[in-house]
Amino acid sequence: MALIRDLLDAGPTLSFEFFPPKTDEAERQLEKALHELRPLGPSFVSVTYGAGGSTRERTRDIVVGIERDTGMTAMAHLTCMGHRAADITALLDEYRDGSITNILALAGDPPADGEPIEGDFTYATELVELVRSHGDFSIGVAAHPEGHPRSPDLESDRRHLASKLALADFGVTQFFFRAEDYLGMVEDLAALGCDTPVVPGIMPVTNARQIQRFAALSGAAFPVELAERFDALGDDADSVRALGVEVATELCQRLLDEGAPGLHFYTLNRSTATREVAANLGLG
Ligand code: FAD
Repeated sequence: MALIRDLLDAGPTLSFEFFPPKTDEAERQLEKALHELRPLGPSFVSVTYGAGGSTRERTRDIVVGIERDTGMTAMAHLTCMGHRAADITALLDEYRDGSITNILALAGDPPADGEPIEGDFTYATELVELVRSHGDFSIGVAAHPEGHPRSPDLESDRRHLASKLALADFGVTQFFFRAEDYLGMVEDLAALGCDTPVVPGIMPVTNARQIQRFAALSGAAFPVELAERFDALGDDADSVRALGVEVATELCQRLLDEGAPGLHFYTLNRSTATREVAANLGLG
């Protein structure tokens, strides 16, 4: 039952993010990815939480199952928007009973259809405070190197992020493609007196169109020069993956050289690209 704050104290971490599968076939894919990534000896793995609690039980069962069955440290993502505090504390009790001690505390997103949000929370900081008051959890929060898409400007986003990180133990970023975006964020946070470790999130490109869609949704820029390099490869899946691995390896190496406290891979429940990047970096 390692606490991620202690793992970060001990040196750069290596971690992998997964999402709860919806079908039997997708479940087998997740099991395969976990099986193939485990030999890399990740510091921890994490499992996402569906907006508004749509995967509440599935996320809990996967996170608890990973810790129990594989011995890997697992972190549960948890969003608060649209939730009552009592529902959150009940879930935290279930996590504690399942020996889960690491929580990524998130606001989540409002419903896409514009329905009004009912619940006790507006911002992630409120969830951080509730989790902190409810037990000895190591608490992570989200960070957006290029600013959160709902933020009116980067300056206010950085201020809110610094206040949130002051309450938490660590941050994990949205994926990004330019090291400067992450390094600039760390510099801005330092200027605001915040030195909480923030682990960069890495998404190796295996399908350029899919990543461009994700990037548009998350507020991450997919640089034009990168898009052009992928476009030149057309639909040749092997070449696209090879370039994605090359680009992610360069980004990770730069981040490690600049002192990043770890690397967090968005795996999309697949293992190949992440394993290739880790091998290039001599990790695992
Ligand atoms: P917050 O920190 O609350 O910030 C949201 C916005 O409010 C920002 O613009 C911020 O600047 C602003 N803000 C914060 N505090 C204040 C304040 N006091 N006054 C005014 N404005 C303020 N989503 C899921 O649904 N499930 C997941 O599992 C999930 N995992 C994620 C993992 C990572 C690593 C990341 C980076 C994101 C993840 N998300 C997930 C997405 C996340 O829920 C969304 O980005 C969401 O829109 C914002 O969450 P947050 O925790 O960053 O919110």
